[in-house]
Amino acid sequence: MSDTENPPTDESTADDQRLPGEYDPSDVEPAWQDQWVTDGTYAYDESAAPRAADASGDEPRDDADTRFTIDTPPPTVSGNLHMGHLYQFTLQDFVARYRRMAENTVYFPFGYDDNGIASERLTERELDIRHQDFSRRAFQEKCRDVCADYEEEFTEDVQSLAISVDWDNTYKTIAPDVQRVSQLSFLDLYEQGREYRQRAPTIWCPDCETAISQVEQEDEDKATKFNDIAFDLVADSEGPITWDETFTISTTRPELLPACVSVFVHPDDDDNQHLVGGTARVPLFEQEVPIIADERVDMETGSGVVMCCTFGDQNDIEWYQAHDLDLRLAIDESATMTEVAGEYEGMSTTDAREAIIEDLDDAGHLLESRDHDHTVQVHERCGVEVEYLVTEQWYIEMLDKKDEYLDAGRQMDWYPEKMFSRYQHWIEGLEWDWCISRQRDSGIPIPVWYCDDCGEPVMADRGDLPVDPLSDDPPVDRCPECGHDDLTPEEDVFDTWATSSLTPLVNAGWDWDTESEDFVWDNPELYPFDLRPQGHDIISFWLFHTVVKCYEHTGEVPFENVMVNGMVLDENREAMSKSKGNVIPPSEVLENFPVDAARYWAAGTSIGDDFPYKEGDLEAGERLLQKLWNASRLVDQLTPTERPAEPDDLSAVDRWMLAELDATIDSVTAKFEDYAFSKARNELRSFFWNTFCDDYLEIAKQRLSEGGDASTEYTLVRAHRTFLQLFAPFLPHITEELWDRLDYAATADADGSIHTTDWPAAGGHEADLAAGETAMEVVSALRRYKTENGLPLNADLGHVEVYGHIEGFEAAVAEAMHVETLDVFEDAPDITTEISDIDLDYSVVGPEFGSDVGAIDAGIESGDYEIDDDTLVVASEFELGSDLFEIEESRTYSGEGEMTETDTAVVVVR
Ligand SMILES: [Zn+2]
Ligand SMILES: [Zn+2]
Repeated sequence: MSDTENPPTDESTADDQRLPGEYDPSDVEPAWQDQWVTDGTYAYDESAAPRAADASGDEPRDDADTRFTIDTPPPTVSGNLHMGHLYQFTLQDFVARYRRMAENTVYFPFGYDDNGIASERLTERELDIRHQDFSRRAFQEKCRDVCADYEEEFTEDVQSLAISVDWDNTYKTIAPDVQRVSQLSFLDLYEQGREYRQRAPTIWCPDCETAISQVEQEDEDKATKFNDIAFDLVADSEGPITWDETFTISTTRPELLPACVSVFVHPDDDDNQHLVGGTARVPLFEQEVPIIADERVDMETGSGVVMCCTFGDQNDIEWYQAHDLDLRLAIDESATMTEVAGEYEGMSTTDAREAIIEDLDDAGHLLESRDHDHTVQVHERCGVEVEYLVTEQWYIEMLDKKDEYLDAGRQMDWYPEKMFSRYQHWIEGLEWDWCISRQRDSGIPIPVWYCDDCGEPVMADRGDLPVDPLSDDPPVDRCPECGHDDLTPEEDVFDTWATSSLTPLVNAGWDWDTESEDFVWDNPELYPFDLRPQGHDIISFWLFHTVVKCYEHTGEVPFENVMVNGMVLDENREAMSKSKGNVIPPSEVLENFPVDAARYWAAGTSIGDDFPYKEGDLEAGERLLQKLWNASRLVDQLTPTERPAEPDDLSAVDRWMLAELDATIDSVTAKFEDYAFSKARNELRSFFWNTFCDDYLEIAKQRLSEGGDASTEYTLVRAHRTFLQLFAPFLPHITEELWDRLDYAATADADGSIHTTDWPAAGGHEADLAAGETAMEVVSALRRYKTENGLPLNADLGHVEVYGHIEGFEAAVAEAMHVETLDVFEDAPDITTEISDIDLDYSVVGPEFGSDVGAIDAGIESGDYEIDDDTLVVASEFELGSDLFEIEESRTYSGEGEMTETDTAVVVVR
């Protein structure tokens, strides 16, 4: 056990004690969190980022690489902090903290996405109300109150994770300035011809009672019934028929029978071809519908004959459009049957389904009803099965530019690279333009009025934004198209993603200047952003829509780099979910562990990979904190308060330590640049723990035990300071506490916080790293020798021989391990190597040699074999190739003394 694990007691150094014996994170962590917020430690320094001379968007923006800008995900206000938040914010914070030290300044804002369905549903839940019972304004007010409470709590939670956000740069997507940006975006896209309003089938959530977009629907497996229903054929292609003939249609949704407008048969379906061109009568509802051939029919399902209803799914919509079919709307906005459903009018779709199945059975039309598992589309916010309704909605055109948006994605660097394929797959599967209007309350109003006479849309004036057409006047008194003087306000609001897709423009202060009649930027230097960090679950939502919007507004992609994180799983690698009851709230974790330990865990995986919550990793984090504290105490006790300057002649072992440190700085820096946090963490930890604490500190202690040594004192302090800085992005509290207590700020370029110091740079120290490492192995071997022989670590050793390359480190080894005579030889000592055993790979030897295997075994056993080059010849008869056997060797030292071997040396204690 080294002394860093067993620091001296307080009494021994009571007079010069800057670090108490125990590190108490429960006091230290919250104190620093408050201090950082009060001091504005993480404020974005605008002056470090020169503005372009002209603030208009056309001017080339300054691209001096002195700042790093991050477009953080505004969390949806829908509840409390979960482990996914903790993980994601912490990853972003590793980047922000590293960049803040490596570059001049960092823009790291924080926002809340507090408009849209999520916050509405939160408000409804929280206050036990329904949005339908209030005016838009009154309900919005309630949403704002509820969100404000949640946001306050959330902010405190995020601050308690030491996320180094600039708390002066925060935004809310419902705030007036953000509403302005959102409405401005709408007007700009309209003018560019990228938006249209259309009455057409839309994806509809009957529970939220609003249109939604393709991205908001998700697959869900459901158990249901497949019903075989007999339809009467009333005419064939020749005309009405006089005989009784029926055919079968299988459906999971008999409540759509009243909406049936046609029947389809595949053109290759020989069995049913005679139906094509005929007319069918829909059971119970009696409407007569045409039978049409179409290749989109899936012949494998049911009887191969299908009905088309307006609308049951996306196929129905395509058929409806392709064959110019009737429109029969049997289901309304709240999933209630309409008058088209006759006696079932007013029933919910589920009640109607049951009633219709019963009546079909009574009427002899239900042939069979069997269990069936299938996939349905549900609304991702509420889990309710979507419907397809004909409604009037606003769309952003996207399908015509799929290739361009794919190319835009390729212009960004993806970490990890493989995540680009998710973006690609989403675009390739895109079937709908983006429906951006929502029939809800708590959203940003769509700034339009419509002429009551000719329907012409009248857009708000850019200078007037934000507006609410429900309470604000239109910019004109009469319709510019026809002169009619009644204009009706738009009641709908925007999809929440229509606004959150603008966060880069919101953060950079994109705006419209009425005077110059041009777009302007408050902080043009921010855009495009260096980094978009986010989860892989919202690549199709947030990232894709941000690329589309920013690309259309600015002509360039909004990000240089995209960092995509995975999801946090439970200890059994299962997704955490309320229904499974395996959710671990961060508050529970942080009751038992320091924040720094949780951050250590969060640095434990490659970005992009889902990874489990593991208490063992947090415990490892705690042990590292303890090690760091103890090592710091030892360094503090060994070195003078007055920081030594770098001496001209460093001793060999000190120069070696500093050269190793240089190499580690370079390597860890490269890993941070590459977002390879787990590799950076592991390398840093192992170098600190093994090389610095276990090897170097032991030697330094010996050297300093008999009085000061400028070379070692300087090296200890420099290495220790550097460790604190390299660990700072991972462990911000303990490193700040040590930096402060050891008064390192006084010798640094920054005033106070370690987190605003310059990232360490290699010092150009050169040493024979291999010789140094071998010397450290020798020290370890001798320490082990003493322990195994029951000797104290400072016991004298009379005579030690080292066979290996430790040139320049002889004195250091002798001093550290109290060796009186140390002889070093470059050549190996007299060691006899003997083959102790030969292992055969029987999986190959068996089949190849069959019944001879016994003879081969016996030959090896009795020593009747020789090795000729790579071939094993047993009993002068059997030849075995090198892939069939492995040699085990034993090495014996026949000289005087006890031998120990290390990786690169042999040590003999005589
Ligand atoms: Zn819904
Ligand atoms: Zn008009």
